[in-house]
Amino acid sequence: MSWERVIGLEVHVQLATSEKLFCADPASFGAPPNTHVCPVCLGLPGALPVLNKEAVDLAVMAALALGCEVHPHSVFERKSYFYPDLPKGYQVTQSREPLATAGSLAVGTVPNGRSIRIRQLHLEEDAGKSVHDRFSEGTGVDLNRAGVPLIEIVTEPDLRSPTEARAFLGGLKRTLQYVEVSDCNMERGSLRVDANVSLRPRGSAELGVKAEVKNLNSFSAVERALEGAVERQEEALEAGGLAIRETLRWDEGSGALRALRSKEEIHDYRYFPDPDLLPLRIDVERVARARDALPELPLERQERFVRDYSLPETDAGVLTSSRALADYFEELASHVGDASLAANWARGALLREVNRVGRGVASLGPAPADLAELVGLVRDGTLSHAMGSAVLRRMVDSGRGALEIVEREDLAQVRETGQLERWIDGVLARSPQEVERYRQGEARLLGYFIGRVMRTSGGRADPRFASELLKKRLSR
Ligand code: ADP
Ligand code: MG
Repeated sequence: MSWERVIGLEVHVQLATSEKLFCADPASFGAPPNTHVCPVCLGLPGALPVLNKEAVDLAVMAALALGCEVHPHSVFERKSYFYPDLPKGYQVTQSREPLATAGSLAVGTVPNGRSIRIRQLHLEEDAGKSVHDRFSEGTGVDLNRAGVPLIEIVTEPDLRSPTEARAFLGGLKRTLQYVEVSDCNMERGSLRVDANVSLRPRGSAELGVKAEVKNLNSFSAVERALEGAVERQEEALEAGGLAIRETLRWDEGSGALRALRSKEEIHDYRYFPDPDLLPLRIDVERVARARDALPELPLERQERFVRDYSLPETDAGVLTSSRALADYFEELASHVGDASLAANWARGALLREVNRVGRGVASLGPAPADLAELVGLVRDGTLSHAMGSAVLRRMVDSGRGALEIVEREDLAQVRETGQLERWIDGVLARSPQEVERYRQGEARLLGYFIGRVMRTSGGRADPRFASELLKKRLSR
């Protein structure tokens, strides 16, 4: 039997507000445990919630960026359950009357892209965190995160493979980062995923019974956990049985899935509107303001880069992976006056530096104009290409400009015949056998000699000039 894989995702994203959703405690990460708490987020009797406007505006921005319809009326409800890290005994959520519905996000670009429907996007508060590895005698609870604003984004079951699910999440993250509603930092838990998957006979239109993997916090975990869940279901179905509706936990260490006992899954959340919170009303002007504030979205920008700068699609994808990099590239291209040359530098040497020092492009150091100066020095032959990358590295480390570094360290390419000949003669004198073989017809040894000359010159010899001189010298 050939099975089709059907996947839907529920994604929790922490909004980039300074305060919590219903109180003024800081929403920031990393404070000592239980220092960002107050009667409201602890659910002490008599404490009343006040809705954070900034969170609402960010949620509206996110909804618009995902093409959702924003509803003028949505409802905060209490979802009751008992858990040590849920101090109030309920979570406030809009899951049943959500802020926004009916959006979509494309995975990949035209003509191969697929549009994944977004069922809904709503506001809710986060729970605290149980800390299992800190105390030998028990579990600790840190409530700093309790009440931090989240949006939950729920897709329709439109994804068709673990790889596609991963690509979708990449696109979602890029989009939310572009509109600056969240840093989407997965290590810190700002983006967490529940992944649902079922199988059905290829060609069938009905949905199969799904398994759900809870709380995945890296893209690779999502992909691997989904692969594991698909395998589990395939085995059950091939054995002639039915797939079981189950909730799974992913263990990152062992890469194994563990099924929760079905008793653990039976919930009665007893939803009802929170009597302390009015329904959320959002007027058209507020939506219009958010729409005006939306930046160009990553997919549009990627397509524009292909169109306007004639870049290959994959390059345009890399260069629009973050808004800061896309901005940097566009400024660099305008200084350099050659988009494809600028693109090579941006996705090559520049990103290598970003990865080396572990800072974003905006705080790396060299501004686009500074890098453009370096690109100019390589383009006019003052510097070799290899030396260009090395100079960028020095620019990042020292904060100095390209020209200053080249002059201070005497790095300009050498074309002057006398100096080149001294290097060449040294190399030839040290390689008599190779010289002999070259003269007997092994022409490919020229590359060997050039390599030696480059090394001897510390990378400063102009390889074109050096190779001309080498040929002359060797033909004698
Ligand atoms: P539940 O009844 O478990 O709450 P929902 O209908 O609310 O399920 O959907 C939750 C998520 O699971 C959504 O992202 C949805 O796309 C996905 N989903 C629902 N049914 C299936 C299915 N049969 N196979 C795969 N994903 C599914
Ligand atoms: Mg549901």
